[in-house]
Amino acid sequence: MASSLLISTFHVRLSFMPDFHLEPNQILAITLFAGIVLFETVLPFRGSHHRLRHVGKNGIFTAFNSVILAGFGATLNLWVFLWIHENEIGLLNQIERPFWVATILASVLFDAWIYWWHRLNHVVPFFWRFHQVHHSDMEMDFSTALRFHPGEMLLSSLANIAVFAFLGITIELIVIYKIVFNFNVLWHHSNVALPEKWDQMLRGVLVSPNMHRVHHSMKVRETNSNYSSVLSVWDRLFGSYRKSDPDKIVFGLDYDRSSEDQKFGRLMARPFTSNKRPERNAK
Ligand SMILES: [Zn+2]
Ligand SMILES: [Zn+2]
Repeated sequence: MASSLLISTFHVRLSFMPDFHLEPNQILAITLFAGIVLFETVLPFRGSHHRLRHVGKNGIFTAFNSVILAGFGATLNLWVFLWIHENEIGLLNQIERPFWVATILASVLFDAWIYWWHRLNHVVPFFWRFHQVHHSDMEMDFSTALRFHPGEMLLSSLANIAVFAFLGITIELIVIYKIVFNFNVLWHHSNVALPEKWDQMLRGVLVSPNMHRVHHSMKVRETNSNYSSVLSVWDRLFGSYRKSDPDKIVFGLDYDRSSEDQKFGRLMARPFTSNKRPERNAK
């Protein structure tokens, strides 16, 4: 396919580092990431935020997940994509369609799936055991987007693979969505002070920072709302959209707030210890 050919063959060689090159999607990712970090620095939403300590702590999750899961996940995904492609598995492989139509269909359908998967993580007590680690963050910035228990990463990878096979999604069809997804998830977790008017315009289409801040509220009815990741339409369509004054939101859970509860080891063990108030997320 043209898109994968472009990404695999075209690269930028930096003249001062002859053996080092970056793929265009990597350059785009680094530029967008740097843009978010710069925005947080220049115009922070919460100035009281302990940035270095917070990013350092959530960075441990990223490092841990990368070491444990990244290689395994990438290999498994690649194998599944190849299997889907070679055997023409799934819905999208059963219909004659131009490549761009399949790309849009795959992206929209997969985004709807991500919405329901996220909602299931709140409703099913077993999934909540893992997902609560993401919600236990009492501050929010781009690094909150990286704070996930490896158990949740593993469960969502396996669930996503089943959906890829069911829908017939291959890497060529999902690569653009993945870039948009990663950027938007970093962006809507970030500590940026986007004027409310702009945020409102943005969340007409995409999940904005103020929209996702409500999802990280300590109030249960707010935690259990705004599940979308990229397109905001799913919350409106399925009745889970909620607005709140972002300045009044207290981030985190109504438990696990002590410094002892927030230690990395405790958070890693969290899914296997008592399920504090699982009923809070079965409403
Ligand atoms: Zn959530
Ligand atoms: Zn979040």
